[in-house]
Amino acid sequence: MRFSTNLQGRTAHEALISRQEAELRLLDTMKRCLVSKIRCDREYALALSSLASQGLKIDRGDELSGSLILSAWKSMMEELENMGKVIKQNADTLETKTLDALSSMYTEKRKTRKLYQEEHTKITQQFSHLMDDVSRKKSEYQKYLELYKLMRSRFEEHYVKSGRGGRKLDDVRDKYQKACRKLHLTHNEYVLLLCEATEFEKDFRTVLLPGLLEYQQSVQEAFISTWKQVLQEVSQLSDFSSDKFKEIQKRIEANVEAVNPAEEYKDFTEKHKTSPSDPVIFTFDESLVEESAGKLLPNQLTVDNLTVEWLRTKLTDLEAAIKECQEKRVLLNPNNVSSDSLVAMANGKANNDNSISNRLSGLIETNKKEINELRCQERKMQRQTELIKSALNELGCEEVPSGCDLSIDNQSFISNANDQGVGSENSLTKRSFGHKCIVNMLKKPFRRKSAPNSPVAPPRTKGRSASASRSGSVDPVALSTNKTLMDEEWFHGVLPREEVVRLLTQDGDFLVRETTRNDECQTVLSVCWRGHKHFIVQTTTEGHFRFEGPAFPSIRELILYQYKSGLPVTSRSGAVLHRPIPRERWELNNDDVLLLDKIGRGNFGDVYKAQLKSTNQEVAVKTCRVTLPEEHKKKFLQEGRILKQYDHANIVKLIGICVQKQPIMIVMELVPGGSLLTFLRKNSTHLTEAQLMNMCLDTAAGMKYLESKNCIHRDLAARNCLVGYSNIVKISDFGMSREEEEYIVSDGMKQIPIKWTAPEALNFGKYTSLCDVWSYGILCWEIFSRGGTPYSGMSNSKAREKIDSGYRMPAPENTPDEMYRLMLRCWEYQPENRPNFEQIYTVVDTLCQAYNVSFL
Ligand code: ADP
Repeated sequence: MRFSTNLQGRTAHEALISRQEAELRLLDTMKRCLVSKIRCDREYALALSSLASQGLKIDRGDELSGSLILSAWKSMMEELENMGKVIKQNADTLETKTLDALSSMYTEKRKTRKLYQEEHTKITQQFSHLMDDVSRKKSEYQKYLELYKLMRSRFEEHYVKSGRGGRKLDDVRDKYQKACRKLHLTHNEYVLLLCEATEFEKDFRTVLLPGLLEYQQSVQEAFISTWKQVLQEVSQLSDFSSDKFKEIQKRIEANVEAVNPAEEYKDFTEKHKTSPSDPVIFTFDESLVEESAGKLLPNQLTVDNLTVEWLRTKLTDLEAAIKECQEKRVLLNPNNVSSDSLVAMANGKANNDNSISNRLSGLIETNKKEINELRCQERKMQRQTELIKSALNELGCEEVPSGCDLSIDNQSFISNANDQGVGSENSLTKRSFGHKCIVNMLKKPFRRKSAPNSPVAPPRTKGRSASASRSGSVDPVALSTNKTLMDEEWFHGVLPREEVVRLLTQDGDFLVRETTRNDECQTVLSVCWRGHKHFIVQTTTEGHFRFEGPAFPSIRELILYQYKSGLPVTSRSGAVLHRPIPRERWELNNDDVLLLDKIGRGNFGDVYKAQLKSTNQEVAVKTCRVTLPEEHKKKFLQEGRILKQYDHANIVKLIGICVQKQPIMIVMELVPGGSLLTFLRKNSTHLTEAQLMNMCLDTAAGMKYLESKNCIHRDLAARNCLVGYSNIVKISDFGMSREEEEYIVSDGMKQIPIKWTAPEALNFGKYTSLCDVWSYGILCWEIFSRGGTPYSGMSNSKAREKIDSGYRMPAPENTPDEMYRLMLRCWEYQPENRPNFEQIYTVVDTLCQAYNVSFL
């Protein structure tokens, strides 16, 4: 396609001009882009170089010496540096050569565009001038033609008028000739001009304009050729697949290829060759169990009531975990894996054969490792399982031994009290059950001398005392064979294990008792034999009874056999029965008591008025609901155990406990007036101040007695005192606190009567007799308010807050000043500023005497 033949038209000319302008703009854009590219390349080159030097900053230590990975990496970094250099060189060339070429092209192109425009203008202007000349000549021609016609007509006119002569005619003729001449000349000029124009037009169309366009095309194409070269240069200098780069890449690949996993650690292993480390032997630090009195043995699991459930759960957990491990191992078995994985890999159509086999062998290795790990885990758990199983099996028919001899609460208290001495104040555990009297009671054995004024002799049909049996002069086991187990003196019914443990003091001491486990009644032989052992009587399928030896139709016969044969109950324990321990005089039979009317409702069960069958004495019997958990039953009996210690007119007396069977009961002296609180409320209008004073004196006397015995009541309040004949007040309720509005629960079992409790006990859990003094102040307030509610209208927390900020209750109406002053002294914030019960008793006694005198 030639410009000369195709681009002659005016629009084509304008398009050509526009095209050239666009090309100039393109050149300009390319120039700017190239400048940017050069800058970017240089920056990239610089970045590569710094990256390479960063990558080459490797530990100077020789830990990696001989590493092929390291040398591959180093070469990669060096080649990166080289790559940076090449990129920079290319950028320099682009700048000095290519960019220059582009710039001069731009200048040239502008020039040629200008020339073309000028040339085109020149020839088109020539043509248009010629056309103008032709049109002007034609006008001139027309003008002279008109003049000729005018002159000729004038001449003809004169010629006809004046004939052939005259001056005028000459003149007209002359003008006519001149006009004629002018016309002819113009005619000729016009003819010549037309000839010239015709020729020029032909030249313009066929020679000049095509020539210009032809020339322009050749110039343009020459430009394009240069332009192409420039682009080629740019392309070549940006080509990362050029030989230079290819060489770099080849060198990198060669170094990477040189990495050989099998060779990688050759030098390293050679250099650090060592022999395997000695096995670490874990030994049990025996000093840890020194204090445990043989309950904890080195390297042996301890199976007792504190741990047995945990061990069983642990065993189940371990067995489940072992099973899980085994299942996982089966799944990871290389035979299963290889086929599965092959399918998976084939589905993925992954890579080449080499890669598949690599991946497969990697997978198998991973599985092997996991299988080994699982085996180790399994073995470890298997060992633990065996240990637990053998510890549990060893127990045989032995009842799960007690981890500690008392309930958890007591135990923590006792150990602290023993360690730190009674009255020590730094133990929070005391708060959980802080009766010092518990300690005393435990120190004194259950079988103590009879209380001097004991209301009833213990019913003993066989006429044998505990001390007699203990002396060994009478053998209770050798008696008549007609007896049932229940008849035997050494059968202690449901006596709690803690009591049993206390009764069995020498090796060979034994007794039989009953216990309930998982709603099942079990008969237990308890023996003192290097500690205390408890054997559950086993029942054979024939309904006979045995331990490890022969079976007998009755438990009594079984025990007699064990006793007389002198054989150990179980070979593991080696326990031999030497001395049957008979029931204490406190241990009444449930059938010794005849329950009459219900007179109250306690925390653990109903309270009855009852009669002792042996003497017809009226008594009060507290019963413990059969459905309560063992822990609660033990707590219930605590009151009995505490009361056994005391003998005072103002302390309610214990007659005995019935633990032979359920329901367990506490038998106490009957205090007919019921609770002091109810009594005060019922008789509020009749009670005189002297009577109220006497009530305060009674309770002070009881508390003075308890104080002398180092006993802290912790729950002294009108609701826990009883009123007897002649309005005598007796302190009661030594066991548990009751769930009432005034109590807050500090945890699952323990409740604190906030409004009766001293601030230091509430704030720091610190209980002393001086805490009881605070409560005594509240009790006196209750007495003088005739059964009023302390801090009435205030919540427990509000009352606590007010007390801490110094508030004290006002005196109830008609309270003697001295009495109110005493109350305020009892409520001194600092316990050491309060009077003790001995002082209180003296004050109240003096006051009472004054009152009694004045009221006589
Ligand atoms: P618990 O200590 O189990 O809460 P309480 O000692 O408070 O039981 O006794 C509940 C009620 O039984 C008392 O309020 C009282 O009315 C009555 N009660 C308790 N012991 C005797 C007793 N020895 N003589 C007469 N009534 C009693």
